[in-house]
Amino acid sequence: MRESLDSKRKRAAEIYEIFCNVYEDADCTLDYDNALQLLIATQLAAQCTDARVNMVTPLLFKKYPDVYAFANADELELREDIRSTGFFRNKAKNIIGCCRMLIDKYNGEVPNTMEELLSLPGVGRKTANLVLGDFFGIPGVVVDTHATRLSNRMGFTKEKDPYKIELDLQKILPEEIWAQFCHCLVYHGREYCDARSPKCDICPIAHLCPKKNV
Ligand code: SF4
Repeated sequence: MRESLDSKRKRAAEIYEIFCNVYEDADCTLDYDNALQLLIATQLAAQCTDARVNMVTPLLFKKYPDVYAFANADELELREDIRSTGFFRNKAKNIIGCCRMLIDKYNGEVPNTMEELLSLPGVGRKTANLVLGDFFGIPGVVVDTHATRLSNRMGFTKEKDPYKIELDLQKILPEEIWAQFCHCLVYHGREYCDARSPKCDICPIAHLCPKKNV
């Protein structure tokens, strides 16, 4: 039988309550000091682990301390600086393009609307939502690989397309917990709900998860 929206909302609220106890300190796992650094770290995190990005960014942000330094970077040199994060050619091109546009169109500041963020090279909805939610405190549902896998297993969506998942989660979760719920999904994905072998037998939300026996 198809679960009603109300029932999903109720289940999500109960899951979130447990998440808040289990993952008290759930937060963005990328290191950053300002909006620009978060924007760049998130771009580097595409197809790469946050841990790897955090190994690269301390030196990177020292070498390129502001938007002007990134905008004027030598592309070949920047590629080498970020090589270990993978897809470094595209990432270097996008980071330079993004910073040039920030200077040309936004006075060197990171904008705080979805539309403006999406106009920047290399910035998709995942990055935009993360920056909105974590830096500006504007509700955003961040759909990464964990959110995609877990929200399907939890029966909150049947979609694979990140934007459709975002819309499904927006209907189920209250706005004020969008960002934090997604952080918890990352923690829960790492701790219990692994892609290959979820630990359903010891999962703290198993009684609320329709896929507990997968
Ligand atoms: S019960 Fe299993 S599938 Fe459901 S959230 Fe927990 S680990 Fe994941």
